[in-house]
Amino acid sequence: MHGSTNETDCLIIGGGIMGLTLASLIKEFNSSIKVDLYEKLQGVGLESSEALNNAGTGHAGYCELNYTPMGKDGKIKIKKALEINSKYEITLQYWSYLSNKYKSFDPKNFIHRTPHISLVFGDDNIRFLKKRYLLLKKHHLFKSIIFSQNRKEISKWANLTMIGRGSHQKVAATIVKEGADIDFGAATNALLKTLKHKKDFEIHLNDEIVKIKESKNNLWEVSVRNNISREMKKTFAKFIFIGAGGQAIRLLQKTGIHEQKGYGGFPVSGQWLVCSNQNIVSQHNAKVYGMAPSGSPPMSVPHFDLRIIKGKKTLLFGPYAGFTFKFLKTGSYLDLIKSLKLKNFFPMIYVLLHNWKLFHYLIRESFQSKHDRINLLKTFYPEAKEKDWSIKIAGQRVQIIKPNSLISGKLEFGTEVIISKNKKLAALLGASPGASVAVDSMIKVIEQCFSEKLSNSEFKKKIKEMIPSYGQNLITNKKLLKRIRLSSHKTLGLKD
Ligand SMILES: Cc1cc2nc3c(=O)[nH]c(=O)nc-3n(C[C@H](O)[C@H](O)[C@H](O)COP(=O)(O)OP(=O)(O)OC[C@H]3O[C@@H](n4cnc5c(N)ncnc54)[C@H](O)[C@@H]3O)c2cc1C
Repeated sequence: MHGSTNETDCLIIGGGIMGLTLASLIKEFNSSIKVDLYEKLQGVGLESSEALNNAGTGHAGYCELNYTPMGKDGKIKIKKALEINSKYEITLQYWSYLSNKYKSFDPKNFIHRTPHISLVFGDDNIRFLKKRYLLLKKHHLFKSIIFSQNRKEISKWANLTMIGRGSHQKVAATIVKEGADIDFGAATNALLKTLKHKKDFEIHLNDEIVKIKESKNNLWEVSVRNNISREMKKTFAKFIFIGAGGQAIRLLQKTGIHEQKGYGGFPVSGQWLVCSNQNIVSQHNAKVYGMAPSGSPPMSVPHFDLRIIKGKKTLLFGPYAGFTFKFLKTGSYLDLIKSLKLKNFFPMIYVLLHNWKLFHYLIRESFQSKHDRINLLKTFYPEAKEKDWSIKIAGQRVQIIKPNSLISGKLEFGTEVIISKNKKLAALLGASPGASVAVDSMIKVIEQCFSEKLSNSEFKKKIKEMIPSYGQNLITNKKLLKRIRLSSHKTLGLKD
């Protein structure tokens, strides 16, 4: 199947949740496909997938108000929440399959049942939340959602958000009790454990991909630099997946494929407030999402979250978005400048000019003091004290700048998989809803790029074993959803 030792069937760039998910899926489908994964750092799951670099929310649309926007007609649109919820269920099914198959893939190490709450203040926001609740409640994906304007009840759900709050302030909340907190870094490492002893799988740590070019014999020629010895080597691959997080856009540009022309990246940094007082931490048991401040990007919706990292409870507030030039936390301040090319120059300038307010917001936010950050925290937790909180740098998000024409572009807040015409290269761009829907994103890569290798009937049989809802629609199939959830939520400990 493979000509020489430095030739592989599938070369994956990046040891984050995406890269490891793709490697795991491929080896589960067909163990004879040779997979080589390259990671520039000393371990996997250390960039955006690392626990404190992201918010660890199992994005299911339960509490994220930006997934149910209000249209210009005043109607709330729930389509995005339904789609994200059903994609998240695909991740849970796959994890459930792996948990049943491998002892080392222990869900207790990375996923914990944590209620998802939306909390709002003031008449307009309460009206919005109630309307949203009534729409979602009718759908089987959200049937367990509860709404309340009763302070005593909300106190039971999230006591810290209510103590010290003035009685004049009107509040409302919804809760979905079977939400989850996920340590995506631990999940990434758990995926690696299932792969480590598999034949024809190799992981190359501290190895950074610096160049990719098409060579003869339909292969990719890839230059790799070892970040410890600084030695360079060449390797060849039939297929490449670029799962390099924020750096994916720069690597994609190196390939020269037509499909990447005009694309650019808009980096957004993040900060958290992390609570160091265990007495406070022990009093909070939920993820509480609010409304994004007006003019702010969707990824800066503030939330007040219980996190469970390596078995220890942590309390996090944020993220505070800001402007940065870096594409990775471990990246370079030259990343943005170096990503400017002739083909994306005008689309990037166009996006900058048309999103001036957002750009201004991010720069202003970058200069906020800790005191300002505590003031925002107080809208969630009125009794917060500065001494109990410290600032921690979160991961980077690189939003997609998509070309509309040679001179204009659009800023996208989702994710996109770019696939070359010959299906020999795929790359994942963007960051949201990200890790929670990694399995769905990577199955799409496999469907498009490995169709020859995974002969249809074999593929369908195996994928049904791994993801029982595959090929069916959980948004429309109520019975199927019930059956799937009963099983996967039980395996993963998300049921009562
Ligand atoms: C502040 C913040 C909050 C978030 N909150 C959530 C959330 O609550 N829920 C959720 O589902 N998602 C969330 N996300 C998104 C989520 O973190 C990402 O979608 C996900 O981690 C991306 O995984 P990845 O594997 O693509 O990237 P990463 O985890 O960043 O992995 C990419 C890897 O590629 C490596 N790499 C880069 N360049 C090279 C190279 N040239 N050669 C070799 N290796 C290379 C990097 O070192 C890195 O390890 C959040 C993100 C941020 C920043």
